[in-house]
Amino acid sequence: MLLAGLALPAGAADAQRQSVALTLQLNWKHQFQFAGYYAAIEKGFYRDAGFGVALKEYQDGVDPVDSVLTGDADYGVGASELVLRYAKGAPIVAVAAILQHSPLVLIARGSEVQTVQELIGKRVELTQHEAELYAYLRREGVARDRIIEQPASFGIQRLIDGQTDAIAGYSTDEPYALQQAHFRYSIFSPRATGIDFYGDTLFTSAKAARASPQQVAAFRAASLRGWQYALDHPEEMADLILAKYSTRHSREHLLFEAAEMRRLMQPQLIELGHLNPGRWLHIAAVYAEVGLLPEDYELHGFIFDPNLRPDLSWAYRGLMAALLLTLFMGVLALREAHNNRRLRSEIAKREEMETQLRETNERLGLQLDEVRTLQSRLEEQAVRDSLTGLYNRRYLDDALPRELQRAQRENYPVAVVLADIDRFKRVNDTYGHQAGDVVLQALANLLKDNVRGGDLPCRWGGEEFVLVLPRMPLESALARADALRKSFNALQLELGGEKVRLTLSAGVAVFPQHGDGATALVHAADDALYEAKNGGRDQVRPAVGAAGERAGFADSQPQA
Ligand code: GH3
Ligand code: MG
Ligand code: MG
Repeated sequence: MLLAGLALPAGAADAQRQSVALTLQLNWKHQFQFAGYYAAIEKGFYRDAGFGVALKEYQDGVDPVDSVLTGDADYGVGASELVLRYAKGAPIVAVAAILQHSPLVLIARGSEVQTVQELIGKRVELTQHEAELYAYLRREGVARDRIIEQPASFGIQRLIDGQTDAIAGYSTDEPYALQQAHFRYSIFSPRATGIDFYGDTLFTSAKAARASPQQVAAFRAASLRGWQYALDHPEEMADLILAKYSTRHSREHLLFEAAEMRRLMQPQLIELGHLNPGRWLHIAAVYAEVGLLPEDYELHGFIFDPNLRPDLSWAYRGLMAALLLTLFMGVLALREAHNNRRLRSEIAKREEMETQLRETNERLGLQLDEVRTLQSRLEEQAVRDSLTGLYNRRYLDDALPRELQRAQRENYPVAVVLADIDRFKRVNDTYGHQAGDVVLQALANLLKDNVRGGDLPCRWGGEEFVLVLPRMPLESALARADALRKSFNALQLELGGEKVRLTLSAGVAVFPQHGDGATALVHAADDALYEAKNGGRDQVRPAVGAAGERAGFADSQPQA
């Protein structure tokens, strides 16, 4: 009640006559983390938009998603686990991503831990919902059974006292206190392995978004206005927090938080609040990677859509034009790089291209990062096979040795799967070469649909495909290859008016146990493929010298 009183100063009474009272549930205690909302209240941005807003500070046991769904609050602030809740059925809608990158990091005792692998066998404080950290540790080869997990104590004292070796923390917060205590620490961010979550995200219920998209859009706009103001006036916000909300943190601490938040919001690169559907897909994929989501999750409707675009065909035309222009500029850039290797001219070219892109971006109302994605897609085409869109052999010739060097350095396995369609010549002979091409594309699509970050699917040549799987031991690689074999066989391919089912065979070799170089590995996989063909096709075989069973995976084994 005190907070509600603070949020609605008495002077606003007349402006409030027709205002809608709204509640925003925060996911932590008052601090700079919520400065944008304080600014929107203090500067009257909410009032101008017709809202009277009360903030609810986080209390033990409060779950912002539940608060919004039960109607205790109209809006909430949550981290990336919002998408997990959504995929599991909570009818919520993401309205604005405030932190473009998650502040969640691992902080370790600097005297003992300099690399993340040194956490093996050490004590780490984690909480159950910090999936990005679990996925990060896993990708770095530090699986959960290789550390001693401890419950989170939500502070730095146990770290300083040596009662634990690492804690999860916010880069906006704990580093400040540790610096004050002159304590040496190491900091590890999941972004090092490509895991890039959103931090705080404003959300509401799907019901509210459906009932009044205009109101949600207006609340979003007023909140972002508040954030813009807070970014522009950090000192004023720190004073406001100290005067009206909390003295838990010193002014200097609040300003440290402000600077780090600015780094995570990237206001100079990304429009405040921007939600990228691709990022949410990436976040969901990471949840699936650590087993918190099934593979067939569905994210449709998760991102708030104000439905304000009057004419979509215009947007498509704009997108088309941007694509063509980007294509044109991409071709120019590739030619330039080819003709002129000198670094300086290349940099100049890029800068010029970025300016042109930015202008195009402004004109067409497209996001700069979307345009960049298109550009990099173009650059990728040089290393893509034109029929299937997979990486081509030339690319793999470069990439596989590089991957192996890294695997050697960081000591993890790399699996190479070589798959070959069975009796493919017959397809060509019976249904024609074009039908053969359709089959190749269908298999390529299966490969694309099933890759994870870091995997390299490649068309090796003809009807042979190579799949490189970093950090994957033999057993898992055999299972992956066999799943591919089954999925391919399950396809009902339309060839010459008939429904046809085909099979494939595959050989699997793993670095370092079957070879320490790219050529040796592919050779070993090829020998295994030859065995699979000899053994009757429609099966997967491991390379010679593999430990464990040698029977391979096949449906064609005799039935009891
Ligand atoms: P198996 O592998 O089971 O031993 O039998 P296969 O019939 O698949 O054997 P083979 O490797 O000799 O045949 C490969 C055929 O793939 C020969 C070639 O005509 C065809 N092929 C190669 N590249 C393409 C392509 O781009 N498109 C089409 N349609 N066919 C291709
Ligand atoms: Mg072949
Ligand atoms: Mg073949």
